[in-house]
Parts: sequence; structure tokens; C-alpha cells
Amino acid sequence: MKLICIGRNYAKHIKELKNEKPTEPVIFLKPDSAILPKNHPFYIPEFSEEIHYEVEILVKINRLGKHIAPKFAHKYYDEIGLGIDFTARDLQTKLKEKGLPWEKAKAFDGSAVISEFVPKSTFNDLATISFSLEKNKELVQDGNTNAMLWKIDELIAYISTFMTLKIGDIIFTGTPAGVGKVSPDDVLVGKIEGETFFEIKIK
Ligand code: ZN
Repeated sequence: MKLICIGRNYAKHIKELKNEKPTEPVIFLKPDSAILPKNHPFYIPEFSEEIHYEVEILVKINRLGKHIAPKFAHKYYDEIGLGIDFTARDLQTKLKEKGLPWEKAKAFDGSAVISEFVPKSTFNDLATISFSLEKNKELVQDGNTNAMLWKIDELIAYISTFMTLKIGDIIFTGTPAGVGKVSPDDVLVGKIEGETFFEIKIK
């Protein structure tokens, strides 16, 4: 399985990193070895001085698909989850300056937090799901899928023009504003519609 991540899908987050607003979605991948095992703490890797959290809504693919039309995209997923796309921001900034790929900053071990998934029917409207991240009980990210530049179905259609989506693949749909650094002993709690989906200790 693969983890497909979307960059720059929320306008306010694009501004906070002083990035340009893309005309098409930014796509990158994480390998399955990036998945943080359930109930494990996140260990800050020695190669970075600046690991950032990015809370994101996740979509799990349930059918094989290629060149999926936007109007049929909803048939390719039944479940929604919540995750963190941990990012070595210091490394990423250097790689971006040089126009190099982001893998070292994005695809390292433990960089993908993935919650349990719930049926999409849990939500009245996938286009207005609220989600949040608390760091040490303080609200640091407060997002809503209504602020996505590209909606879930548009992302699925777009990604599938480049790569086949397979059963079990997970899409990280991008982070809202409020990303920031983690330090040892921090506790991150991710919520959808006020319900806790994960709790991660930083070491
Ligand atoms: Zn991200």
C-alpha cells in the first residue's frame, strides 16, 4: 500500500509557509515504513532540529482505480480517518530551495500517524467536517474540509490520472494553518467533530 499526500490544499497554510498557491494539487508519497505503529510514541529523529506536526483528514481507498472521473470518485472510498504528516521542516526548506524531492523531510520512519477509520456515513456532509489538533491541551490547528482548495473527490480523480489507486491506499488530504514544532514530552491529540481519533506522545 502507499500513502499519497497532498501539499498546499488550504489557503491559510499556504500563506503561513509563504508558498505560492498552486494551480494543481501538489502530490508526494510516503512509504508504508513511515507509518507510526499504533500506541507508539513519536521519537524526534536526530537529523532534524525542527519537526512540525500537520493534522490531516485521511481517506482510505477501497477499490482499484485509474483515471477515475470526479463524479465516480465517491465510489472509491467508504472510510475517513485522521492523521499527522510529520515533516522535518528544516530539511524540507533546504530541499525546496534546491528544487530537490522532499522524501528525506517527509517519508522518514514514524512520519505518518494514522488513526482508526470510521464509515464516511458517520458524517452528514464530507465537505464540512471539522477537525483539530491540540498540543498539550492547547488548540493549535483548527480545520474544516470546507476550506480545501480541492475536495476529496477532486483529489482522487487528479491522483488517479498519474497513479493507480489500490485497495488500502491512504490519502493525506493536506493540512490547515497552525503547523508548528514538536518537542520532547509534548502530547498531541487529534479530533474530528470533537471526538478523539489519536493521542501521540513525543519523545
Ligand atoms: Zn501535509
